[in-house]
Amino acid sequence: QDKHKYSGIVADCCCDYETVDHINKEVLHPLLQELVKTPFFRYFKVKLWCDCPFWPDDGMCRLRDCSVCECPESEFPESFKKPYHRGLPSDDLKCQEGKPEAAVDRTLDSKAFRGWTETDNPWTNDDETDNSEMTYVNLQLNPERYTGYTGPSARRIWDAVYSENCPKYPSEELCQEEKLLYKLISGLHSSISIHIASDYLLDEATNLWGHNLKLMYDRVLKYPNRVENLYFTFLFVLRAVTKATDYLEQAEYDTGNPTEDLKTQSLMRQLLYNPKLQAACPLPFDEAKLWKGQRGPELKQQIQAQFKNISALMDCVGCEKCRLWGKLQVLGLGTALKILFSVNGQEHLGQELQRNEVIALINLLNRLSESVKFVHEMGPAAERIGEGK
Ligand code: FAD
Repeated sequence: QDKHKYSGIVADCCCDYETVDHINKEVLHPLLQELVKTPFFRYFKVKLWCDCPFWPDDGMCRLRDCSVCECPESEFPESFKKPYHRGLPSDDLKCQEGKPEAAVDRTLDSKAFRGWTETDNPWTNDDETDNSEMTYVNLQLNPERYTGYTGPSARRIWDAVYSENCPKYPSEELCQEEKLLYKLISGLHSSISIHIASDYLLDEATNLWGHNLKLMYDRVLKYPNRVENLYFTFLFVLRAVTKATDYLEQAEYDTGNPTEDLKTQSLMRQLLYNPKLQAACPLPFDEAKLWKGQRGPELKQQIQAQFKNISALMDCVGCEKCRLWGKLQVLGLGTALKILFSVNGQEHLGQELQRNEVIALINLLNRLSESVKFVHEMGPAAERIGEGK
């Protein structure tokens, strides 16, 4: 297999390309592929029918593949329908009653996980607690792929995302914080383009799907910074997951299917406490370096408001399946931002997560991992095609 041309440390991160490719192939990709199939991670709660707050919806989708198939009520886990419980999970209390004094767990206060929270994510726009308009979608039945959504409608969203909300920062002198949002959005954009290229409708007449390496080259590989931003975003989200290790290890992955739920928990532990990952890339991204200066708090608030606007723009995506994945991935990024930069400097705030946020976070990490793998494996061939060699 050819090596792709990227090497050295991924800019603004703490690991190099070779290591990222290696741990992704050996550890992350196989684990994440299993995790996203579990009942806990395959159902995502989403409000798909919302009016675009910025302009009238003119979305045109050519393909039937644009639409999302929603889950019937009976399909998604019973436990997802119950109202959240605040405070300690009730099982803990029951457990305590029967225990002799000496065996009573007195470390409850330091417990990271105290039930899924209902508090809205400060980085995103949707009111996640308004269940009335939410539906559950089985992500496994609605893969992110080419949908035929293109032209002015799609272009307007990306233009708005970049120009209105996170202006491109051409000058290298700008500080890391200001570049952060642009890099995350650009990395996500690369990942979406790579998924379109990896699962493309090559021939409509015969319904033939396959790789479109020329498209991958034209949209992503031709621009080395787009590849770099993809790796950056992957490491950023990975760092958020590892930072929330205590919380994610203790969290309830309950869907009413004990065998599957044990498997989910075990896969999560393998991800969170992976010796190979810890040895190769112990700190994928160092969030402590950011927001240090005098303008720190102000910058953070500004970027939070900008990200919220980007999140609101997802309601303007005129193709249902693109909107689903757009919303999921933006919520995933918002969750990573919340974990890494909890608001007002209150460290523990980032440790309270909604179930849907964790589902989005892990599914986003999986999407990025798939994109990194595709670039690693197909990049050299795509470059030969793109450069006409
Ligand atoms: P676009 O991808 O629309 O890019 C627009 C402009 O942005 C480019 O001309 C370039 O200047 C800049 N740009 C492109 N990539 C980057 C980058 N990585 N970093 C920085 N700048 C960049 N289509 C599907 O078929 N399936 C989907 O699942 C899907 N999901 C979508 C989700 C969202 C949220 C949005 C907004 C669109 C989605 N689309 C999807 C549409 C798809 O992203 C493209 O917009 C469409 O295929 C048209 O592509 P394009 O070649 O015009 O360039």
